[in-house]
Amino acid sequence: MVQTISLLGSTGSIGRQTLDVCREQGIRVAALTARSSLDLLEEQARAFRPRLVAVTDLEPALELARRLAGLDIEVAYGLDGLRRAASLPESEAVVTAVVGMAALWPTMAAIEAGKRVAFANKETLVCAGELVMEAARRYGAEIVPVDSEHSAIFQCLRGGRGREEIKRLILTCSGGPFFGLSREEVAGKTKADALRHPNWSMGEKITIDCATLMNKGLEFIEAMRLFRVTPDQVDVVIHRQSIVHSMVEFRDGAILAQMGTPDMRLPIRYALTYPDRMQSELPGLDLLTCPPLTFAPPDLEAFPCLKMAMECARTGGTSCAVLNGANEAAVELFRQERISLGQIPELVARALDAIPSLSHPAMEDILEADRKARECVERAVS
Ligand code: NAD
Ligand code: MG
Repeated sequence: MVQTISLLGSTGSIGRQTLDVCREQGIRVAALTARSSLDLLEEQARAFRPRLVAVTDLEPALELARRLAGLDIEVAYGLDGLRRAASLPESEAVVTAVVGMAALWPTMAAIEAGKRVAFANKETLVCAGELVMEAARRYGAEIVPVDSEHSAIFQCLRGGRGREEIKRLILTCSGGPFFGLSREEVAGKTKADALRHPNWSMGEKITIDCATLMNKGLEFIEAMRLFRVTPDQVDVVIHRQSIVHSMVEFRDGAILAQMGTPDMRLPIRYALTYPDRMQSELPGLDLLTCPPLTFAPPDLEAFPCLKMAMECARTGGTSCAVLNGANEAAVELFRQERISLGQIPELVARALDAIPSLSHPAMEDILEADRKARECVERAVS
């Protein structure tokens, strides 16, 4: 179990739940970072007394430094601040709870410093997963997933052992708030509808991804990168109850599943205590009162984002970065209520059509594909 962490994105949904786990397990927090939410960040800094706090911009950094004066907490800003937070010598693990591709450089800094990376951020694994995993091998950085499905698989595999024994990974998917609807019905849903997720309470971006099932598409690619399997070895099943968090089928036909109440503190705790399991005060799953567990195939016609992601998983190259970049840009437009929900898959499809995929990309190619995809989406709506 780790003793000290750096937490990137501490004011978000995963960030706040990570601090719950730190409180519960007595884990020290050496660095906190966030983009905004100064009041919450100040409160967290006062409670956890980190050595370093970093924000994205200079103005809020000056304000925060004023508020934290006399507490012996250094305040930094910008990419440099994030990178420093990710590589503090006293932190054994770095939790990447930042949303989007913005997590790429601090994540790479954590890897280069040889830290355990408790990987919540999925966008960077989708875009640059092969390079990230390769760097982790080179620098001896341990990658431990926080995403509940990938944590479930990691737990079934007891870390990295027995990869060659995997027949397939079975990712479970709640189906989101629009399960059972047609493509046309989904397309007309509003932001308020999309933010009403049945089983999980999360940040807005991922909640919208759950409504379009792009989240499961990103997780499909994330699973391939983390566990080095082919697209043919990953299946998605709809499991409305979110109790089986995912499964591994081994070559002898045995299937192992990890089950529990839907609570992100469970995978977060495991990422920080692995290979140990520590005592938790949270109530466990009551099998006798939990609803019957059901499994069904996903509807790829109603949810084209999942279908496109599965296709990109097969194409590889820079197509996954285009998929992700276009989706991030489109979701941002939807959050601003400038486009409809149905336009998200349309804009992603447009970017994938317009931008040819480059195989064996270097980091610059991935960043270029990401930039072009965002540009393509913005041009289409301006
Ligand atoms: P969130 O929006 O609630 O929080 C995001 C955090 O990142 C905030 O602290 C914010 O200040 C910071 N941030 C945002 N943009 C930034 C930028 N450009 N630079 C630096 N910091 C920035 O998001 P979340 O729901 O906690 O999700 C975080 C990541 O974890 C996402 O990649 C998401 O896909 C993944 N994830 C989340 C959940 C969940 O239950 N919330 C589950 C699985 C995976
Ligand atoms: Mg997940």
